[in-house]
Amino acid sequence: MDILKKKISVIGAARSGIGAARLIRKMGGIPFVSDISDEIKLAESVNILKSENFDYEITGHTEKVFNADLIVVSPGVPSDSDILKKAAEKNIKIVSEIELASSFCKGNIIAITGTNGKTTTTSLCGYLFNECGANAYLAGNIGHAFSEITESVKQNEFVSLEVSSFQLDFIDRFKPKVAMILNITPDHLNRYDNKYEYYAGAKLRIFENQDANDFIILNRDNEGVNQFVKNYKSNAFFFSLTQKESNGCYVEDNKVFFSRNNNVEFICSVDDIYLRGEHNLANAMAVIIAAKIFNLNNSGIINALRSFKGVEHRLELVREIEQVKYVNDSKATNVDSVWYALRSFKEPLFLILGGQDKGNDYNQIKDLVIEKVVKIYAIGSSADKVFNFFHRFVKVEIKDSLEDAVTAASKEARAGDVVLLSPACASFDMFNNYEHRGKVFKEAVNSL
Ligand code: ADP
Repeated sequence: MDILKKKISVIGAARSGIGAARLIRKMGGIPFVSDISDEIKLAESVNILKSENFDYEITGHTEKVFNADLIVVSPGVPSDSDILKKAAEKNIKIVSEIELASSFCKGNIIAITGTNGKTTTTSLCGYLFNECGANAYLAGNIGHAFSEITESVKQNEFVSLEVSSFQLDFIDRFKPKVAMILNITPDHLNRYDNKYEYYAGAKLRIFENQDANDFIILNRDNEGVNQFVKNYKSNAFFFSLTQKESNGCYVEDNKVFFSRNNNVEFICSVDDIYLRGEHNLANAMAVIIAAKIFNLNNSGIINALRSFKGVEHRLELVREIEQVKYVNDSKATNVDSVWYALRSFKEPLFLILGGQDKGNDYNQIKDLVIEKVVKIYAIGSSADKVFNFFHRFVKVEIKDSLEDAVTAASKEARAGDVVLLSPACASFDMFNNYEHRGKVFKEAVNSL
C-alpha cells in the first residue's frame, strides 16, 4: 500500500490503533488518531501518543477525522458505527487494520475467522507452529497487534491472525496464504441489519483474493459454512467429526487422521488433545491441517496438542475444591458456545447463566440442560428471562450477583460435580467486559 505523504486517520486508539499509527508514520504517511473513549480508559495509549508526538483526539470524533486520504479502522470498531457511515458518505476510502498491516507483510498469513473459536484456534495455531520449530507470530485479539509485528515477519515465517467480520468488512487486497472458517452461526446480527447473509457475507471475504496457490480450511459439519461458502479459487481442506475426508482431517475410532489426496496418515489419539470438548477437537483439526499444509512434523504437532492449555476465560479450569471443579467460560457470550460447553462435560453441572441478553433463543440448549444440569443460577438483567424459560425443566434460582451464585453453588455441589460459568450473554449489564466477569468469578472461587 502506498501511503507516502498521505494523511491517514486511525479510528480507535487501543493497541491496534497505536500499532497502525506507528506503522503509518514509519512508512512515510501522516497519521491522526481518533477515539471516543476518555483519558482514564485510554491512559496507556495517551501516554504513548503524547510521548511519540502523535496528532490525536479522544472523548469523541471530530470533523478532523475526515481531513484524510484514507481511514484505517481498529478491530474493535463496529462497521456500522456513525463515524464510518459518515466517512463513507464523504467517499473517503476506509480500510481495516489487517488490510494496512498485511500489505507490508512478507510472511505467510494464516487468517482465522468464525463465529466462535477464533481466539482459541489462533492461539493454538501460533503455539503449535512454534512447537514444530516454525517461527510464528500471534496477532489479533490476543498476542500482538498485526501492525506492530508485520515488518518483522520474514518470508518463511508465519502470522497466526485472528480476523473478525468487522475487519473483513473493510479489506481490499487482503490475501492470506491460508484462510480458516471455523463456523458461521447467527451472532452480532444487530450490526448487520439483522440479516444473517450479510454477516456471513463479511466472513466470506476472507478468501475473496485467494488464488490457486492458497489454501482454505473449512468445517464440513457446520451448516452455515455449507450454506454460504462457495466459489473459492484456493485449495480446500475440510475437517469433520462425522465423516471421512479425502483432503483434510477427520476422526475415526477416537483417532485423528489427516488425508491428502486420499493418502491417509494417523496424527494422534483424540485423548492426546488436552483441550476439552468436541468444539476444541474441531479447532485442533483445523490447526492440524494448517500445519500439514506446511509439512510440519507430527511429533511437534502432538506435543503441542498435549501441552496447549487453552486461553483464559474459555472453559478455563479455575480450581478444584473438595473434588468440585470450577470452570470459567465467561467468553461464552452466545447460546451456541454454551451448547458446546455443555457438550464438553460428562459431570453433573451447576450452571451460572445470564447477563445482557442478545435475543437468545434457549430452545437450542434445552435438551442438553435437561440432560446435564442439576441447577441453574440466573444472574444479570436477563435473570427473569432465564428463570421463565428454564424453571419448567430444571431448578433455577435467581441470584443478585455473580459472587452470590458462586457461593450458593459451592454449598450445593457435591464431589464429582462441576460449577460452570457459561453465561450465553454479554457482560455489560454488570461488568466492564467478559474478562472482568471472568476475573470476578475467579476471585469468588478463589476466596471460597
Ligand atoms: P472467539 O474469539 O471467536 O470469540 P473464543 O476462542 O474466544 O472464540 O471462544 C469463545 C467461546 O466459544 C468460548 O466459550 C469457547 O469455549 C467457545 N468455543 C471455542 N471454540 C468453539 C467452536 N469451534 N465452536 C463453538 N464454540 C466454541
